[in-house]
Amino acid sequence: SVPVITIDGPSASGKGTVAAIVAQRLGFHYLDSGSLYRLLALHARRQGVAWHDEPALAELAGSLPAAFVQGAVLLDGNDVSMEIRAEEIGIGASKVAALPAVRAALLQRQRAFGVAPGLVTDGRDMGSVVFPQAAVKIFLTASADERASRRYKQLIGKGESANLPQIKQDIIDRDSRDAARAVAPLRQEPDAFLLDTTELTIDQAVDTVLRRFGQ
Ligand code: C5P
Repeated sequence: SVPVITIDGPSASGKGTVAAIVAQRLGFHYLDSGSLYRLLALHARRQGVAWHDEPALAELAGSLPAAFVQGAVLLDGNDVSMEIRAEEIGIGASKVAALPAVRAALLQRQRAFGVAPGLVTDGRDMGSVVFPQAAVKIFLTASADERASRRYKQLIGKGESANLPQIKQDIIDRDSRDAARAVAPLRQEPDAFLLDTTELTIDQAVDTVLRRFGQ
């Protein structure tokens, strides 16, 4: 079977950055599963569907007009890579992601990324639900202060305004919602390796993942 590396963890932990680099190093496919929930939240907003309307959201999810082309995220053929990163869409994503019918509708779509030569994927339930047979499972985290400060620097670097206490509160709220939900709650699986990056550089985190994979 195809080798899969799953990197799950809380928001703004840097798991996406680490996963993308590991995929590149190994020449594997990369799936940012959170982008699917973000795309759904954006698509629903544009279609006038509420973020709590489970049947309507599941239907939208089943036919989500999404595509990933050369690092860009497309919705209906338009590049929405920037739009789906908005904090508000992240909040919407965590609301639609709490609905079981939505998760079920996106399951096969995620599994379809598990093809040769291999896959590196990040999210909340990639090791627990989507790829339970993964070769390597990582639970990547960092302290809430560190995650807030990384997000803050990222926003300031993009020339956006940012409020550190507010960012920290948003991160904590989103994590609590992700951890409290009934389906696929955010948590470290018993067979996942805990990688706390609070004091690590990106390179150190990448090397740790590659070493677990035997590289
Ligand atoms: O990782 P990211 O911040 O882009 O994810 C946005 C939201 O999507 C998360 O807060 C979480 O609620 C949801 N999500 C999920 N399962 C995944 C990936 C993301 O529930 N595998």
